[in-house]
Amino acid sequence: MDWLDALPDARVLRTPAALLDYRRDESHVVGPLPRAVVRPRSVAALRELVRRAGEEGFTLVPRGAGSGKAGGCVPSPSSVVVDLSDWPGSIVVNPANLSLTAPASAGLAAVKAAADGHGLWYPPDPNSWPLCSFGGSLATNAGGPNACKYGMTRRWVLRVEALMADGEVHGFGIESIKQNSGPNLAHWLIGGEGLFGLILGASVALLPRPREHLTVLLPLPAAGLLPALPARLFGAGLLPSAMEFWDAAVLADLRAHGPAEARRWPGEALVLLEFDDAGCSHAGFIEHLLEVLGDWGEAAQLATGTAQREALWAIRRMTSTHLKQRFPGKVSEDVVVPRDRLPEFFERLAALDTPTVSYGHLGDGNLHVNLLHAGGLDEAALDEALAPLFALCIELGGTLSGEHGIGLAKRAAFLRHTDPYVLSALRAIKQALDPQGVFNAGKVL
Ligand SMILES: Cc1cc2nc3c(=O)[nH]c(=O)nc-3n(C[C@H](O)[C@H](O)[C@H](O)COP(=O)(O)OP(=O)(O)OC[C@H]3O[C@@H](n4cnc5c(N)ncnc54)[C@H](O)[C@@H]3O)c2cc1C
Repeated sequence: MDWLDALPDARVLRTPAALLDYRRDESHVVGPLPRAVVRPRSVAALRELVRRAGEEGFTLVPRGAGSGKAGGCVPSPSSVVVDLSDWPGSIVVNPANLSLTAPASAGLAAVKAAADGHGLWYPPDPNSWPLCSFGGSLATNAGGPNACKYGMTRRWVLRVEALMADGEVHGFGIESIKQNSGPNLAHWLIGGEGLFGLILGASVALLPRPREHLTVLLPLPAAGLLPALPARLFGAGLLPSAMEFWDAAVLADLRAHGPAEARRWPGEALVLLEFDDAGCSHAGFIEHLLEVLGDWGEAAQLATGTAQREALWAIRRMTSTHLKQRFPGKVSEDVVVPRDRLPEFFERLAALDTPTVSYGHLGDGNLHVNLLHAGGLDEAALDEALAPLFALCIELGGTLSGEHGIGLAKRAAFLRHTDPYVLSALRAIKQALDPQGVFNAGKVL
């Protein structure tokens, strides 16, 4: 691979010490050392990489900030990692069009801040938004607490620019919320986990920033009430912008070992509710909410200002990291269960042989079910331990992943649980768009 030294407009990393950090993301998956890491700064560099990958038969592994939880950016054997963090471009907000354009390398935090600077709002909010890249959030179709009301990243994407297997940059979609000139390939790139091409940038739709928030910390007197909460709120016409939860075990751990604020948290299980409807901070709305909650809401605490609201969200965002520090071998899943099946799910989850703890996005049924002591398990044993969980979700009409994607971490289960017709259709699309397997071969399919 001596040609790498002559690659135009790119930084190339080749020493084992420099490559070490690229062996993993935030999942439990660890890959081999890649042959090299390339940080391209121009299309010329990418064009050459794609040509060489096709000719020499190695794969390019796209990488953003490496915060993924499915092993999607982890190197495959003999691969070259394409780290897009040096990709040029700036964030441009277009208030007249309620849209924003940004390069893949932008941090999602910077994208959200740029919209905010114009009194506008980009809703997707994976809890990793302070650290993940815009490109990575697009490639994984990231969701987050707001997905409960505002859906996932794909819903907000208007246009994508990507370098495809012909070595050229193509645009998919236009900068408009209405476009219907045939099927839109942008929808394959969003959530495509780097299988179809390299996303270089995108335009996304914005909303006016919500003017009010009502943030409520809701300690539940019994953990068994947790799965019934969505139905109670939806049934009363209340749709929170976020409904996050901690089960009894995660709450107890945060209380014992978490930040000072969490040590004071009451309840058997805990929910963080947020509303952003016009008028939600007014007495009438709050009274209605408390009426709907009845005796479940007796210990509800309303965040009184931005600082308190931020403090609550900071604890929600650090829950994953906190558990990882406490249980370094933990494996965290992100299964989905339709919300009306949550009561049955939690009951049957507790009866499984494998002990689990859960937290996550109650409002859209996307649950982070964690095996805290999975550290010593090899791949086969982990697969066996997770199989009943996945089978239960699928039996209840759910799925393996609500936001993290499949990558390498869930590939075996994905292949086992997906309709063979769907798998062969997906493989045919991959073959049509990337006949030589240049992009992220060996992941997902
Ligand atoms: C503490 C924590 C909390 C999290 N919370 C959430 C959450 O609430 N919701 C959620 O959805 N996720 C969450 N995640 C997972 C992860 O952060 C998100 O999926 C994030 O969007 C990944 O972005 P990244 O830049 O780190 O991508 P990476 O990890 O670098 O890559 C992720 C995938 O995208 C591909 N990829 C990256 N960039 C490109 C590109 N430019 N073109 C093509 N393919 C590309 C990679 O090959 C890989 O398959 C969390 C992670 C952590 C560590």
